[in-house]
Amino acid sequence: MSQKIQTAIAGSLPKPAWLAEPEKLWAPWQLSGTTLEQAKSDAMRLAVDDQLRAGITVIGDGEQTRQHFVTTFIESLSGVDFVNRKTVRIRNRYDAAVPVVVDQVKRTKSVFVEDAKKLRLLTTGPIKFTLPGPMTMVDTLYDGYYNSREKLAWAFAEILNEEAKELAAVGVDIIQFDEPAFNVFFDEVKDWGVRALERAAAGLSCKSAVHICYGYGIEANVKWKNALGDEWRQYEQVFPLLAKSTIDQVSLECINSRVPMELIALLKGKDVLVGAIDVASNQIETAEQVASVLRQASKYADIKHIYGCTNCGMVPLSREVASAKLRALAAGAELLSKEMGLL
Ligand code: ZN
Repeated sequence: MSQKIQTAIAGSLPKPAWLAEPEKLWAPWQLSGTTLEQAKSDAMRLAVDDQLRAGITVIGDGEQTRQHFVTTFIESLSGVDFVNRKTVRIRNRYDAAVPVVVDQVKRTKSVFVEDAKKLRLLTTGPIKFTLPGPMTMVDTLYDGYYNSREKLAWAFAEILNEEAKELAAVGVDIIQFDEPAFNVFFDEVKDWGVRALERAAAGLSCKSAVHICYGYGIEANVKWKNALGDEWRQYEQVFPLLAKSTIDQVSLECINSRVPMELIALLKGKDVLVGAIDVASNQIETAEQVASVLRQASKYADIKHIYGCTNCGMVPLSREVASAKLRALAAGAELLSKEMGLL
């Protein structure tokens, strides 16, 4: 088998205009009923096709069946009231009207397993499926029942573990938990965040990954990033804990971020998903730019542990821009693979 540098997307891709309003985060569906369900499956096929044609090696569903990376999962659980919302501050950054936990949270049915089965049929290569992480789920809700972020996170971790095991059983190769909250609540990450994440991934027969990031290119995130100073060292608090954890892969933002590349060295032994595509810009990276980011990353981790990845999800971009960025990502990884004699 070729040892070339693997590539993957962080998670989301833009949706076709017939499915949801383009270039808009959390856009409502344009269809309903069985037509919507068919349209979501069709969109997933296109998202997979775009990745395969570009030459991406680990394939995702582009999150074509979800409106929001956290709440679409929570919608399938019992114990959460989506009608009588409350306004809370998310990630200490922006206010949002969020669903309220009113009872014990329970998973009464599989959430994404049918989607994962469809994805499995679309490629013979490795596939990745994304789920929200427990801490980020807690931070996207108002808790009117548990009165403890830790207890609620633990309840979510158990639910996520049930779901993740079912995803692995239908052939998913990597299950990634999205934990942007890890870049904000450092004390909680240390106290219970990593433990809850490990609980979510416990006993999995496939690989586990965690995606931490500085968010999409929305205004609240851009302002926050501008206030973080010349060097973004948030990962420095979390990476040593993840290095000791059972999680196999960790993502970080590299291109156009102020994250010092040497922080990768803190993840010794883990696969590192190196963000080499900027999702907050319409500028298409060149293959050489992507290769250059991965080349720098390879100073701090064995090349066999390095995956070329996007900084975050690409859902807010146009389809044309996202497709071009996929091609650049694959071409950059190919270029460096050749240069390093890995093909
Ligand atoms: Zn992200």
